[in-house]
Amino acid sequence: KRSRDTREVRDYIRTIVDFPKEGILFRDVTTLFADARGFRMAVDQLLNPYAGEQIDKVVGLEARGFILGGAVAHQLSVGFVPIRKKGKLPGAVLSQAYELEYGEAVVEIHDDALNPGDRVLIVDDLLATGGTAAAGIALCERLGAEVIGCAFVIDLPELGGRKLLEEMGHEVFALTAFE
Ligand code: AMP
Repeated sequence: KRSRDTREVRDYIRTIVDFPKEGILFRDVTTLFADARGFRMAVDQLLNPYAGEQIDKVVGLEARGFILGGAVAHQLSVGFVPIRKKGKLPGAVLSQAYELEYGEAVVEIHDDALNPGDRVLIVDDLLATGGTAAAGIALCERLGAEVIGCAFVIDLPELGGRKLLEEMGHEVFALTAFE
């Protein structure tokens, strides 16, 4: 008899050294998404903390947050809303700038994508400094929505994102952490 598959979500994540530049350990979730068992485990586990909570919309952060967020929204039978990098969304948008290591980035949401009072779950693959997620939260809140949680596959706690989001009063959930 074959032994049971005991791999956890983190076992499916591949690490690429020095991508996109020297000194970075890139945590690659394409190997997780490509595996039927791994992908299902990740999506199911992302939903665990929110069982019994009312969620009106899932908001995914470009680009890997679209893959996870789409699956999470489908599982919840709720709508999915993308937050994209500047210039990609076709309709009228709200824009939010945030600091990068060098310079700044801008993310956008359609200005009619959420309704005041909507309870929103934000989804992305990885939490590093928290800058992207904080900008995403700001966009949701500017539309009057309530962010009830931020769910990630991976947390890099040393980069401070969890601390930042928690200090902003938000609940953070991650399936696994890497140093
Ligand atoms: P941050 O805004 O610093 O929290 O960065 C989060 C975004 O950058 C996420 O959308 C991640 O996909 C990406 N990212 C940052 N650091 C890494 C890393 N070490 N490996 C893979 N993706 C990363």
